[in-house]
This record gives sequence, C-alpha cells and structure tokens, in this order.
Amino acid sequence: MLVAATAALTFHLVDSALEERLRLEIAQAARLLGHPGFPLGDESLRRVAEFIGADVVVTDAAGRPVATSLAPERRRAFAADALPAAGDRARVAEATLGPERFTVGVVALPPPRVGSVYVLYPVDLLASQRQRAWAPVTLVAALATLGAALLGRAGERRVVAARTQALLRLLVSVAHEVKNPLGAIKAIARAQAKRAREGTVEPAPLELIAAESERLALLVDGLRSVGQPAVTARKPVDPDATTARTLSLLEPLLGHRRVTVEADLRAGEATVLADASQMQQVVLNLLQNAADAMPRGGRVRLASRLEGGRWTLTVEDEGPGVPEAVRARLFQPFFTTKERGLGVGLALSRGLCRAHGGDLALEPSAGGAAGARFALWLPAERAAQPAAAEGA
Ligand code: ADP
Repeated sequence: MLVAATAALTFHLVDSALEERLRLEIAQAARLLGHPGFPLGDESLRRVAEFIGADVVVTDAAGRPVATSLAPERRRAFAADALPAAGDRARVAEATLGPERFTVGVVALPPPRVGSVYVLYPVDLLASQRQRAWAPVTLVAALATLGAALLGRAGERRVVAARTQALLRLLVSVAHEVKNPLGAIKAIARAQAKRAREGTVEPAPLELIAAESERLALLVDGLRSVGQPAVTARKPVDPDATTARTLSLLEPLLGHRRVTVEADLRAGEATVLADASQMQQVVLNLLQNAADAMPRGGRVRLASRLEGGRWTLTVEDEGPGVPEAVRARLFQPFFTTKERGLGVGLALSRGLCRAHGGDLALEPSAGGAAGARFALWLPAERAAQPAAAEGA
C-alpha cells in the first residue's frame, strides 16, 4: 500500500487567514457536493478537482470512497481512518500520505447525505498561495457559493442534470479564464523583478499587471453575485465617469483584439445611486460580448444620455447581431452559444441593473444595422455637484 497517513496530524498552517479561507472553501464545496441534485461520481469530482487544483474524495459513513477524483494508485492508498474525522465544522490539517505531503480538509456532508468530503491540497500549492494577496482559492469559495445558491434555490425540486453540467462547465471555464491572465501577470512580474534588480523598472508593465488583476477581481465579483445579485454599497456615482474608467481598464485588451471603441460619454452630467463596482461589471460584460461578437475586430459605439430621470447607456457592435432564435434565451443563466462561454454575463448584468431599479435589454440596431445593440438604464438625476467616479 502506497500510503499510510501519519497518525499525528498537526496544524502547520501558519497563516490563519489562509486556513480560515480553506475551511470556508471546504464547507462550501461540501454544500455543493452534498446536494441531492449534484451528480456525485468520479467524473464530476475530477472536474471539480481540475478546477480547484486539489483532489476531492467523498466517502460514505464508514469512510469508504463513493466518489473520488484520485488517480488509481492514490485511490488505493486513500485511508479515511488515518485522516482526521469529519465534523460539522470543516477541519484542516497537514498529512503525510506515503511519500506525498498534503494539506487535508475534511467536513461532514450536509444532510440528507451521510458521509464526509475530503479535499487534498498539494502542500506546494498552499505554499505558493501564502505568497499571494489574491488567491484563487477565494474564487473557489465564490463558485461554491454560487453553486450552492443555484442548487439551493431549486429547493426540494430535482435539479436537472443539464444545469449541473452547466455549472461544472462554468467551473472549468472560469479556471481557464483566470489561468491565462495569471500566467501573463506572473511572467510580467518576473521580468519586472529582474529589471528592478538592474534598476530599469518601467511603469507600463506594472500598470498592465494592475489592470489585469482588477479585471480578474471584477470577474470574481461578478460570479459571486450571480447567486444573489444584491446591491451592497450604493453611493452617488457619476455613471459616465465609471463607464469611462471601465473602458480604460479594458482598452489594452480590446486593442489587442482590434476592437476600437467610439465613446460618447458625458462625465459630470448625471448622478446615479449605485454600487460602482457592479456597474463596472455590467459595462465590462457588454464590452466583452461586443468584442466576442467581432472576432476579426471592429467598432463598438458606446453612448449615454440622461432624460426623463433615466441614465441610459447603449453598447452597439458591428458583429452579426443576435439571431431571432437566440433572443428569447439571451438573459437566461448559463445560456451561451460560445464554445468557452459561461452564459452568466447577461443574466448577471440584467439582475444587477434590476436590483438598481433599472433594466438591461436588447434593442433594435440603429438604422437596421446588422450588429447587436444593448441598452441599460438606471434611475438618475442631473448632477448638482460632481459625483465620484467609483463611489468607493
Ligand atoms: P457568454 O458571453 O458567456 O456566452 P452572456 O450571458 O454574456 O454569456 O451571453 C449569452 C449569449 O448571448 C452569448 O453566448 C451570445 O450568443 C449572445 N450575445 C451576447 N452578446 C452578444 C452580442 N454583442 N452579439 C451577438 N450575440 C451576443
């Protein structure tokens, strides 16, 4: 047998914040995996494992694995009785399993299921997480919340397999979505560190790091709110300035995709009571969709107007437009026609606009042009004095 877990499992996680995050993540993962609608099997656990970068094992009450992402040799070696016992609260401990060291998290499955969920994090993954201020593990927590919220909302109703599959696709897609910019950030940071040693640091790559990190944070924020698009921090915000800021964040990326933006914005004109980061999220989604609709590049027109107590922003692209058959499903969660799409952008954006007392809709294109034209509106007032761009 490859593995004999050490009997004395000790807490080696110096960073208690990280440990707390792991606990949260494990508990939330258990809520998702324990839901009667979740298709508990090796294949689905492998997908979850691929996403979180850690193996997952679900055992029955006797500690026998019922589903696992473990490769066969590790599976044979897995011995639940040598690992910490599951309680209602998630526990985290370090364990040596034969030649391999893991940080193991364990928690009891929530009723009606009986058994335990084990998450086995490679120790080097955690060591690298400790170095980072922004750690992907928090993303997993957000996704587990999202999954639990979606599954939970279905109540006792059986959750259809298609939705769960979509959720798994979402997990995997987000992993890809996050991994690429993170790779770029790492490479740029390394190159800059070298330059710093040589005394020739340039600001532009550092700004790119900041912009990409902010974009990822927005993506994560967006996912967090799919389950419950609640407006958290409403403040008087200048919607045009906020839109312009989002645009400037995304511009390097759009330029790279040969997408130019013609913006007709009126900073200083309107004030909306909004959560600026959620507003940014909506604009970001619409711009990304516009860019996706024009794989060979093109022009996006962004225009705002203030009339009748409404601030309206239109986003119009030169893509193929939205086919009749797609229109009815456009705002449904997890509806996507893209190979690597998530299908949450529009559903989330509409939810956020409505939570602010406004709305988001597809409009006929100006002059019958081919592209898509989305319009969002929010209740607004004419600015008495300049409002903050960020509301932060
Ligand atoms: P995703 O972008 O991940 O697919 P969304 O909810 O943002 O998720 O969009 C759902 C679907 O709506 C897209 O897959 C696409 O079919 C359609 N769509 C959204 N924006 C546009 C656009 N600007 N032009 C054409 N189709 C669009």
